[in-house]
Parts: sequence; C-alpha cells; structure tokens
Amino acid sequence: MPLTNLQMRDVETLVHPYTNQATIRETGPLVIERAKGIYVYDVDGKAYIEGMAGLWCTSLGYGNEELAETAYEQMKKLSFTHLFGGKSHDPAIELAEKLKEVAPVPISKVFFVCSGSEANDSQVKMVWYMNNALGRPKKKKIISRIKAYHGVTVAAASLTGLPVNHTDFDLPIANILHASCPHFYRFGQDGETEDEFSTRCARELEELIIKEGPDTVAAFIAEPVMGAGGVLVPPKGYFEKIMAVCDAHDIYMIADEVICGFGRLGEWFGSPVLGYKPHAISIAKALTSAYMPVGAVMIPEIMHEALVSESKKIGTFGHGFTYSGHPVGAAVALKTLEIYQRDKIIQGAAAKAPQFQGHLKALGDHPLVGEARGVGLVGALELVADKTSRKAFDAKAGIGAKAAKFAEDEGVILRSVGDALAFCPPLIITPDEVDDLFARAARALDKTHAFARAEGLT
Ligand code: PMP
Repeated sequence: MPLTNLQMRDVETLVHPYTNQATIRETGPLVIERAKGIYVYDVDGKAYIEGMAGLWCTSLGYGNEELAETAYEQMKKLSFTHLFGGKSHDPAIELAEKLKEVAPVPISKVFFVCSGSEANDSQVKMVWYMNNALGRPKKKKIISRIKAYHGVTVAAASLTGLPVNHTDFDLPIANILHASCPHFYRFGQDGETEDEFSTRCARELEELIIKEGPDTVAAFIAEPVMGAGGVLVPPKGYFEKIMAVCDAHDIYMIADEVICGFGRLGEWFGSPVLGYKPHAISIAKALTSAYMPVGAVMIPEIMHEALVSESKKIGTFGHGFTYSGHPVGAAVALKTLEIYQRDKIIQGAAAKAPQFQGHLKALGDHPLVGEARGVGLVGALELVADKTSRKAFDAKAGIGAKAAKFAEDEGVILRSVGDALAFCPPLIITPDEVDDLFARAARALDKTHAFARAEGLT
C-alpha cells in the first residue's frame, strides 16, 4: 500500500525509537489519534485493544479525567519548581511519603527521575558513589543478567542483556557483567528439574563473583519477571538462591520494578511475588499510568547514610535532573496511587489473573506456541518452528513481528519480544474484554501459522 500523506511526512521527519529504520520507510507507521479506556483509535477510526498498555505502562487506560484534572490544577497552581540545592514542594514530599508506605522493603529515601533508564543509571551511579563513600573503591562491578532489560541510557543499556542494545553502540561499558538467564524452557538442560536449574543459575552467579573477585562486585540488579527480554518468569525458589549468594558476598541488590511495580503481577510490587527482597528499587511507567513521565529510585538507609557522609567530605551530591520530582508529575503520580487504592485496581488485577492466565495457557496448545508463560496480568507466547524439539524460527523470518502485525489486523496491539508475543493490557480491562483480547490473539496466531506454513518456515 502506498504511504498516506501523514505517513510520508512521518518517515521524512522522524527517527522512530526502537524501530527498524529501513523497513519503516516502506511500511510507514500506524498513526494513533485518540484513546479511551483500553482502546486506541487510528487516524481512520479503527479501534484496537491496547494489549500492551502502551509500553507496559498505561495501567489505568486512556482518557482518565481525574488524572487530566490533577495535571491541569497542578499546572495552574505551580507548574514548575525543583528539588535542587535545598528547594522543595508539597507534591514531591507527599509522593515520597506514599511510596515509602507502599514499598515492599524498608525504604529510607526516594530520588525522583523521569524514566526507567534514568532510574537505573542513577542506581549505578549511586552504588559507585556509596562504595567510594564506604572506602571500598574497588567494589564497583554490577551484575545484571542475559536478556535483562533495564533501559537505553549508557549505563542502563549496559545493564540490559540484549544484543540489539549493545551492537554498534560500543556497549556494555566497563564494570557491567551479565549472569545466566533464569528461563527454564530455553536454558534448562536435559533431565534438569526447575529447582536444579535455579541452583545452577545461583552457582553460576557465584562462580562469576568468585572469578571476578567478590571485593570487586558491588551490586546485582534484576527484574522480578523479565519483561522486554520475553516475559521470562523465573522458577520458584530462584531468587532465594540468588539472594543467598549475594548476601554471602556483601552484594547490594536492586529490583527493577519498572514493569512489575504497581499491580502488574497482582500485588503492589513484583519482588514479593517472586520471593525477592532487594535493598533498592527502580520504578517508573505505571507510577503515573504513563500520564506523565515519572520514575524513582527508592534507596535503603545504608545508601542514604553514605550520601550524607560523602557530602560531609566533598559537598554537593552532584547528580539530579531538571525534572527530578517535577510537581505536575508528582501530583499525577499521587493521584494515580490514590486511584489504585481507592478503586482496588491491584486487587482487581489479581482477581482477573486466573482468567487471563487461563486464556494464555490455552493458547499454549496452539501448534505455533512452544511455551505460554506469565503471572498476574502479563504474559507471553513463545513462537517456535517445531513444538517437540523447541526449535526456534530463523530470526531473519521475523515471525514475532509478523504475529504482532496480524494481531494489529485483528484489532489488538501486542508486542513481539524476540519470537515471543507479549500481552500486558491495562489493569482496568474487564473480564469480557479479556475474552475479546484473547479471541483476537487466537485469530492472529492462526494467520501467523498459515503464513509460516506457506513460507515453509515450519
Ligand atoms: N526497566 C525495565 C524493566 C523496563 O521494562 C524499561 C522499559 N521498557 C526500562 C527499565 C526503561 O524505561 P524507560 O524506557 O522509561 O527509560
């Protein structure tokens, strides 16, 4: 199809984030014009279920009047002030108090940022700063995991464990290491149980720490459920074994709750669902249901003490963004958290999880699906060329992207993460809408299967 005028203007002007820069010039973008509830509408008026909550973030759906009013009122009252050099404002204070109240582990202070990447970059810098303050300047390496996703700024992209974020970018930077990925379906060995696999992941982590030297390893960072790496749910008991290794070597543990936080797994945070007890937490996305770009780093007292002691020696803590704690973002985040509590959004997500996961598991029987996995209201279907041998498709065939395109034709937006098709709808989705989402996804899978057979890919 020839590109429309709007599509032409788009490809002549925009560099799209996270997009194949060659193919978009031929296909053009899908231009979205408006949205309401769980639906987004393109410029031709076609409705799509936003099956990915945007980018795993629009938990309260679209067109929420209360959030819009809150932003408007805050803009009129105090559109901007900052937290630098001794200034403050009420929305930031109140939001930090609220976050400390709902946090799953003891949190001393909250540092505001505008995105998940900024949160994780700040975590890295704070860990380095803390270990300098504590007089252990060699203890700087940070361990992430293969297939992790922690963002795209220089340090965060280094933590990310996906080749596309490193290749040609000259990343990862020094002092970032990647441990085994806890995806049993792909990395479990013949005859190994899930528990034995977790034990091996922890053993491999310990071997890495010992090889590097425990006095050089500062921190470990993990998403409770890995999102952009493929919605990879670690086996039960995995985090207990990992934490034992980290504890033994005095390693600071960070949870990246950028996707899992605020109800996605059926509880306020994902860490307790997976048995992970981190020291520090990164949040963003659903903190404002994506009505404003706000994130935060939540730190324990040991980190705060280090920041204070270092300031006594060298003065200003030289880190912070113009928009750290933006008053409009903070006000919208506070209202979002109020709605989560008042409207029991998180309990609602937990209540819908069995239906959602039931549909997902049922699609696991589809001839194209090797593994159906998920927890709460997030999941993925791993598309495979051969179900029995678990043989993957040739990456060049782009079968995941093809399936997402067929889903779009069926009026549901899903996202391919590798050859897995991810599902992450707004938490406000109703049970009827869950049924509809999966009916559309099933039709898209059938079309993808027919395509794969016609192309001789399966
Ligand atoms: N961490 C996780 C777990 C994420 O999923 C993402 C974004 N998908 C990020 C960090 C980066 O967040 P942002 O895109 O807001 O920088």
